[in-house]
Parts: sequence; C-alpha cells; structure tokens
Amino acid sequence: MNNPDSQLNTSGTEQTNGFSEQKELMVSFLWLFIPASLLLASIFYAFSTQTQQYELQTTLIRDESALKSAGELTSLLFEQKLSDLLVLAEGEVLKNYLHDESMKNWIRVAREFSLFARRKPKYFQIRFIATNGMEVLRINNSDDAQQIVPKNELQDKSSRYYFLESIKLEEGGIYISPLDLNKEKGVIEQPIKPTIRFATLVFDGYGEKRGILIINYTPDELLHRIAENFKSLHGNTVMLNSSGFWLVGAPDEQLWGFMYGNDMTLAKQRPDVWATISSSEKGTFLSDDGIFIFHKAYPLDRDKLGTVENIEMGVGASKSRLGDRYWIYLSHISTNLIDELSAKRLIIATVTYILLFLVTGLISVFFAKNSVQKKLAFLKLQQYATTDGLTGIANRRELDKFAIREFKRAKRFTRRLSVLMLDLDHFKQVNDTYDHTVGDKVLRHIAGICGNAIRAQDFLARYGGEEFTILLPETDIEGAAQLGQRICDNVAITPCQVGQTEIKITVSIGASEVEIGDEAFHDVLLRADKALYESKKRGRNRVVVSSEGYYLSSPACLSDE
Ligand code: GH3
Ligand code: MG
Ligand code: MG
Repeated sequence: MNNPDSQLNTSGTEQTNGFSEQKELMVSFLWLFIPASLLLASIFYAFSTQTQQYELQTTLIRDESALKSAGELTSLLFEQKLSDLLVLAEGEVLKNYLHDESMKNWIRVAREFSLFARRKPKYFQIRFIATNGMEVLRINNSDDAQQIVPKNELQDKSSRYYFLESIKLEEGGIYISPLDLNKEKGVIEQPIKPTIRFATLVFDGYGEKRGILIINYTPDELLHRIAENFKSLHGNTVMLNSSGFWLVGAPDEQLWGFMYGNDMTLAKQRPDVWATISSSEKGTFLSDDGIFIFHKAYPLDRDKLGTVENIEMGVGASKSRLGDRYWIYLSHISTNLIDELSAKRLIIATVTYILLFLVTGLISVFFAKNSVQKKLAFLKLQQYATTDGLTGIANRRELDKFAIREFKRAKRFTRRLSVLMLDLDHFKQVNDTYDHTVGDKVLRHIAGICGNAIRAQDFLARYGGEEFTILLPETDIEGAAQLGQRICDNVAITPCQVGQTEIKITVSIGASEVEIGDEAFHDVLLRADKALYESKKRGRNRVVVSSEGYYLSSPACLSDE
C-alpha cells in the first residue's frame, strides 16, 4: 500500500501520490485554452462573414460622398462664374458705351474687360456680341497677355449655336453651353482646352436688348482635381456628359468622343447601366459585374445649393430649362474588387487571429502552470503531514488513523488483523561506529526491505526512532509470523551498502493478532511490543509471536555468515 519507492519524490516533477504533473498541466491547459480558442474562433468567424459586407458598405459610402462633393464643387464653381458674368453685363462702363458708341467709350469697355481678364486667367475669351450677331468687343486672354482684338478682325457669329440660344433668353436668363473642347479655326486646340460658355443678355439704359455678353471659361483645373479625387477611390469612377460621353476618368482615347466624331458612349457600351442612370437623379444599383453608384450634377442647381449673392437668375436657370446641361459622376465597384478588398482584410484578420491564438496558448500555459504548481504544493504539504521525511513511508499519525479504522472493521466483521513491531538490533552501535547519516541510510534500507515484503493492503509505518510497525489486515498470527520471518531473514542476509562499506544489520520482531477481549488497537500493539521485548531478550534477530498469553519464538533468523 505504501511502498517507500512510490513515496514523495523530492524532484516533484513526475509522480506524487498518483499526481502526474504533466498530465495535470495538460488538463489545466486544455480547460483554459479550448474555451478561449473557441471564443476566438467564433469571433473570427463572425468577423470574416461580416468583412465583405463591411468592406462594401465603407466603399459605397466613400464613393457616394466623393461623387456628391464632385457634383457640388462643379456647381459652386460655376455659380461663381455666373456672378462675374452678371457684374460685367450690368456694369456702368458697358452701359455708357451702349448710350454713346464712341471710340473712346469702346476703348474704356475694352480696357475694363481686359483688366478683368488679367485677374481671371481661366476666362480665355470675353465678348460682347450685338443683337445682329456681330462681335462688338472681344478680349483674348492667355496666361501672359490680354489681347483686345482690333475692330476690323471682329467676326459675325450670328449663326453660331451659342448666339442663337442666348439671344432667345428672357431678361435675367443665363445660357450655359455644353462642356466641350475649344476649337481654333475649326481645329481642336492642343493640348486640349475643356471649355464651357456662359452668356447673358445685355440691356441699355432704356431697357432695350442690345446683345449678349459671353465668357469662354476653361474648367481644366476643376476637371483635373476631380480626376485626382477619382484616383483615390476604390471604384472605377468617371464623369460623363448627359449623352453618355466620357469627360474624366476613362482612358484618353475614350475621352471627349463627341469632339472627334466617335460615337462610343456608355449608353452603347452598357445599355443596362445607362437605362438605370437615365431614370433618376442619383442612386446605387447592383449589376452582374458589381455595383454602380451615380450622381447627376446640374451646374445651376439652386435648389440644392441655396442662393449666391449678386446672382439674379431668372426662369432660364431652372433645372427644367437647363434640359441636358448636367453631368453624371459614375463609380463602378467590380465584384473582383470587392473580393480583393475582402481578401486583404481577411488576411489581416487571419494573421491577427493566429497571433491571438498563440498569445492565448501562452497565457493558458502560464495559468495552467500556476494552477498545477499550487496543486503540487498543496499535495506536498499534505504528504509532509502524513509521511515520514526520512524514509518516505507513513508516519505515526497515519498509522494511528489506519489502525483505528482497521481495528473497528476487524471487530465488527470478525475479520483477522495482525501487527508486527520491528526494532533494529544494536542500532546505536551503527550510529556510534559510523555517523548519523549512515544510520539514516540504514533506516531507509530497512524501510525498503519491509516495503518490498508486504502486500498492497498491508500498512507500513515508522513508529519512531528505529522502530517500524506493519499492520496486516485479513491476516492471522501464523501469516504475520511468516511475514515477520521473511523480513527478518531478508534483513539478515541483505547488508546495507554505504559506499564501499557493507553494514550488517538484524532486526527483532514482535507479532500479535486482534483477540476477543481487545478493546482498542492499543491492546494489540502492546502485545506486539511485549513480544518484541521478548525477542530482544531471547537474543535478537528473531520473531516472537504473542499468542493467547504465550510467546512463541521462531528460530534466529538467517544470517549471511
Ligand atoms: P537494541 O538492540 O536493544 O534495540 O539496541 P539499540 O542500540 O538499537 O537501542 P537503543 O534504544 O539503545 O538505541 C536506539 C538508537 O537509535 C538511539 C538513537 O540514536 C538511534 N536513532 C533513533 N532515531 C534515529 C534516526 O532517525 N537516525 C539515526 N541515525 N539514529 C536514530
Ligand atoms: Mg528501540
Ligand atoms: Mg534497537
């Protein structure tokens, strides 16, 4: 039952009373790690399923707001231009000229317009055209110079579309041309100069219509900024005119198709997409190859922008009269792109998950070790309280507990219970001849021999000093005497090896059994002790049995001599 070999292991790493540190560590670790990693895995799963949705949402929001602000920027800039147009058209200097068309007044208007042009490099032409379509005044504005075109070089514009459209306006009305590329003498100017024309009617002091004031404006910087903004978006974003021609964001050969006689439009390329765009002002819709977001921008959408000071826009500026003067900002987020974005996020999530998984593992190991160490310390404490520190077998206290239990059982169920008391012979001499540490080794040696001789249900304890007790449940006195004899013989023929020295030792043993009149275990022990005393008296190295008041002595035990 308590073989000293299987007792407290001082290294404490392997086995302590059936406690396997490694096994315990593994169990504690799994108890912590499995729930933690399951929790992590479910968070990861939820996250990864949400990722695609989330990625799509953020991309949509970003692209939508970029399209909206591009539209607002366009409108805002154009409103500022209209303000300039009205200031010139209603200016005193022009009014004076209309009252008195003298050369002097013409020069004053020309000067005023050219001064204005110098401050506004993006207005590359400012003209006043009379009601008959003849140019009256024209300022050509380039980066470095403002040219007042001589009167004899002025041209007849009566048949040009912008003149015909503008002269039809009502008072306060504004004409905005389509956005196209500037042509010089019928040829598209290179590098291309995107152009838009703003015109309004000019009235004299008597309220008579005298012509139109027209400004050619290049929104090249605006388009450049829009193109740059588009590049930062995830989707493939373009700006189209109301007929579906690309103005910004497409490959160069695709841009401004209407100017080059090219009839490729989005309407032709993607009739499905075009049909949806045509049906509303803005929106987001799903198609086979991804998601499309679009936003239409009207250059004079006063409903959305509020009023701008100094602008008196008449009915001509309302959306209905503007007809096809709008641009479409369109973003396409392809299915592939969505997958790509999700994949990127998933990779980051997976790496994070693996790292967290490892950290969880490490934390679990830490806590598991901690808990096992606590358990181990508790077990050791328990062992110190119940075992003898020198031999590792049970101590006197444990013997008492076990003996009381076994004695009660034997009495109640009339079972057999014997006891052996064992004392080392002339042990004092060992201590005296060698030293105490050698004596200790001898004590361990004897404990080992006893432990090897007993059965699993027997109980070996150090009674004190150089005395040992063995309790033998289910064993009668003959059995006890036989075991005593075997131990006695084994001790006598097995000297204790200490270094090079062999120390011969013998033991005296007293044996007794529970008898009918016994009231406590102490009675049995007392008889065994007396038998032991008898054994010493009869010459030591023998077993003496106490049986019904008599002592039966066995022959002296074997000796290796
Ligand atoms: P006897 O044959 O009559 O039993 O003689 P003995 O010398 O064995 O008996 P005695 O009672 O005179 O001496 C017992 C000795 O056992 C005295 C003590 O120093 C020694 N002893 C008791 N416990 C220990 C121990 O834990 N270690 C060592 N080394 N010696 C011990
Ligand atoms: Mg003694
Ligand atoms: Mg002794």
